Order: sequence, then C-alpha cells, then structure tokens
Amino acid sequence: MNIQADCLNLIAGERTPGYGNAWFDKLEPATAAQLARVAASTPADVDAAVSAARSQFDGGDWAALSGAARARLIHRLADLLEVRSDFFAELLAREQGRAIMEMRMLDIPMAVDTLRYFAGWADKLEGRQIPTSGFMGRPTFNYTVREAVGVAALIVPWNAPLMIGAWKLGPALAAGCTVVIKPSEDAPLALTALADLSVEAGFPEGVINVVQGRGPEVGRALVTHPGVDKISFTGSTVVGRDIAAVAGPLFKRLTLELGGKAPQIILPDAPLEQAIAGCAMGLFVDQGQTCAAGSRILVHRSLHDTLCQALAGAADSLTLGDPLAAGTQMGALISARHAERVRAHIARAVAQGATLETREGPLPDQGFFVRPAILSGVTPDMDIAREEVFGPVGAVIPFDTEEEAIQLANDCAYGLSATLWTQNLSRAHQMAARLRVGAVAINGWSPLDARLPWGGIKESGTGNDLSRSALDAYLTEKLVTLVM
Ligand code: NAD
Repeated sequence: MNIQADCLNLIAGERTPGYGNAWFDKLEPATAAQLARVAASTPADVDAAVSAARSQFDGGDWAALSGAARARLIHRLADLLEVRSDFFAELLAREQGRAIMEMRMLDIPMAVDTLRYFAGWADKLEGRQIPTSGFMGRPTFNYTVREAVGVAALIVPWNAPLMIGAWKLGPALAAGCTVVIKPSEDAPLALTALADLSVEAGFPEGVINVVQGRGPEVGRALVTHPGVDKISFTGSTVVGRDIAAVAGPLFKRLTLELGGKAPQIILPDAPLEQAIAGCAMGLFVDQGQTCAAGSRILVHRSLHDTLCQALAGAADSLTLGDPLAAGTQMGALISARHAERVRAHIARAVAQGATLETREGPLPDQGFFVRPAILSGVTPDMDIAREEVFGPVGAVIPFDTEEEAIQLANDCAYGLSATLWTQNLSRAHQMAARLRVGAVAINGWSPLDARLPWGGIKESGTGNDLSRSALDAYLTEKLVTLVM
C-alpha cells in the first residue's frame, strides 16, 4: 500500500503544508520506523481554515443546500469510505499499531454506519409551533427553527481517530455546520484521508477543513479562535479542563469527551464464561487504549481467584505482533513515550503492593509493545485503581456485598461507563440506577452504536457523541414570534 509521504492540511479544498513549512515525524508504532511526516502548522493555518469554514457557513454554497442535499453528500462520503475500507483498515492498523482485524470489525463499519445514521437526520431538523395565551392582550403565533450553530472545531484523539472523527463529522454536517478538524499528532493519517475523500464526494470546498499540528499550538489557536462557535473535543481530562478554562469565557459551545476508569462489576451469579470473555475484551481491545476500557475489575470474592486466573490466562495467550498479520490479536501502543508510561503504571502498582498475575515474557524486537497485565491484590487507594492507564492493564479488586460494589464503582473521579455481569436482571437495573456514569452495559462490554448516546459525567466530561443528542449539540433552537 502506498502511504502519502506527507500528511498535509486541507484548507478550502487545497492540500497544503503549513505556512511555516515545518514538519514532524509520525512513526509506525509496530516498527518504530518513520511512516510519514506531518505538517507542523501554525495559528496562521488555523486562521485560513476557520476563514474557509466561515465563508461556506455564512452564505456559501453549503449554506444554500437543503437538508436532503447535505444528506446525499454525507451518504456519498460513507459510500466512498466503505468502498475503500481495505485501504483504510491498513492505514489505520499501521498508524495506530493496532490489529487490522479490529479495524475491519469495529472502527470502519462503525464510522460508515455513523455517517449514514446522521445523514438520515439532515432533512429532519424540524422546529415546533408553540401555543401561548398571547402577549398584552394580543394573540401571538410562535414557532421555532433549528439552525446550525456555525463553525465547529473537531479535536480528535489518536486511539480511534477515524471512528471518533466520524462521530463528530456526522452530526456536525447533518446539522449544517462547517468544520475544522484537528487530528491527533500521533494518528493523523486516516482521518485526513477521510477528509480528502470529501472533495471526491462533492462537498463544497471549505466545508471540511483539516489543520495538522501540535495541540498546544494549533489546538489552542482553534479553541480560542473568534470564528469558531462550537468545540467538540475528545481526549484527556487534563486537556479538556484546559479547553473548558479558555473557551468557557468565550462562550463557545462545548462537548468534552474525556478520560475514564470504567468498572466491570462481576456479581456472584454472573454468567462466568461471558463475563471473562467480556472483561478480556474490555481490557485488551485497542491494547486497552480506549476511554471505556474496563480497567477496574470489581469481582465478588467467591469468584476472585477463578477470574484472576482466567484473565491472566487470556492475557498470556494473546498473540502480539505485526498489526497486519492475520493471526495478530494485539498490536503495539501508540508511541514509545506512552508504552513507557504504561510500564511505569504497572511497576508502581507492584511497588505499592499489587501482584502481577501475568507473565512478563518476550516482546517483538521493534516497536512499542507492552505485554498485557492483570494485577491482583489491588486496594482502592492505589494509583492503579484510580488513574487512567490507557493500556492493556486490569486491576482486580474483590468485594463482599452489592453495596460495597456500588461504593467502589462510584469512588472514582471519572464517570464514563460501567459494566455489570449478573443473571438477575432486576438487580442489574436497580444497580444501574445507582452507578454514577454516562453509560451502563449489562452482560456485554461497551456495545456502542450510532443511535445510542455516548458521554460521561464528572471528570469524564460533558455532552454526548452519537445519537440524536450529539446532533442537538450542533443546533440551536431559534424562536420566532408574530404578535398579531
Ligand atoms: P490528548 O488530550 O492528549 O489529545 C487529544 C487532542 O487534543 C489531540 O488532537 C491533541 O493534539 C489536542 N490537544 C492537545 N492539547 C491541546 C490544547 N491545549 N488545546 C486544544 N487541543 C489540544 O488525548 P489523547 O492522548 O490523544 O487521547 C487519549 C485520551 O482521550 C484518554 O484520556 C481517553 O480516555 C480519551 N478519550 C475519551 C473518549 C470518550 O469518548 N470519552 C474517547 C476516546 C479517547
């Protein structure tokens, strides 16, 4: 496969290097070799991209399109992505170091489905007619229209760049916004290739723009730009907090999808085989680099030893290696720095008294690989029980009562998602009501779907991606009143 040597900006339909003509290297995680060089853009590039997006929004060809016409364009983009899914699967696997099987089964189908789901909304943005008792003795006729909020900055992380990019692009375009995408510097290629496809799909130039570059320069310039009305950010809680602090006083609309430390609660009557398989999936998909990673395994004491053994066995049996090889089940972490950080989390947990249940075994010679780890003997006060690791690491904590399980689950700064494993469905629903998270799954880990809202509370952020809720976040309801 031919990967473009240079990862460029897309501004007003033109693929351009940054004004400063500066670059940084994007390494291939599984080999540590250079994969591409990426434009290190500047605030001047952000200005150009926002200005292109503004012209289309404020009276450009895009502004004149009907919802049905927007829907056709979004469908065309989804079709092109689907037709080129082999290309995208390979590109994603190489830039993320992640097993290609996951791209084929999860990321690409979901990106396609998400675009199609939101395309379906584009011509259904209906307002309301609202009766009142009138105004100062005169009858009124009141109606609302739902209008796009304006130019949206879409800031995307590296862990599922195409899929999360589609989660944001779909509703933004369906609502009628124009966008500036800021891909992660660690995984910019596939999302940029999707934006490039928008030109072929026939989107007017300037509707979808991309600015490459580093977060503190380009991301910061974007979130503080006066021409940006809405920010949809997915990434770390630290950066989310910074964005809220600078963009809040500027009254930008904010969706912040941040970190997580999801509990998987295994009750004594759990369907054990399913629970083990589901926990393993929640820990090891994407090398554990998912916001929903079920990294806190809260297990009833009666099942503790069985579960530890089974999860350690599952971890030890995973085939690590070349993301493009058919038999690979786990690839490399995104960067040397991140792999080092994950190893440090494991070492610190052991230093604080946890037991490593998995083997430390050999790793591929090159690339940023980390062996999956299961830690037992974890207590709730340890860092490994509280901090987001974002790697293939599970911390097992036993509990004795349901009440204790809820208390442990909620004793966390994050509140993104949780999984319950039990055969008692009435108990499951009662416990789900008490979990302080944005999403609870029962007997299955993180069953994402474009039609279902996804978002967290507490330090996991505010607002939703996916579903009708995401669409609403790119719309404003304008009231028109005729005083008769
Ligand atoms: P990150 O916060 O380092 O970067 C995310 C994006 O923000 C990147 O594009 C980066 O360039 C940009 N950025 C960095 N500094 C910025 C600044 N000051 N202003 C504006 N933009 C800036 O996150 P990451 O390491 O790419 O992703 C991992 C994190 O994302 C994890 O914490 C994970 O839990 C979270 N995540 C959350 C969800 C969710 O749905 N809640 C989904 C996926 C990932």
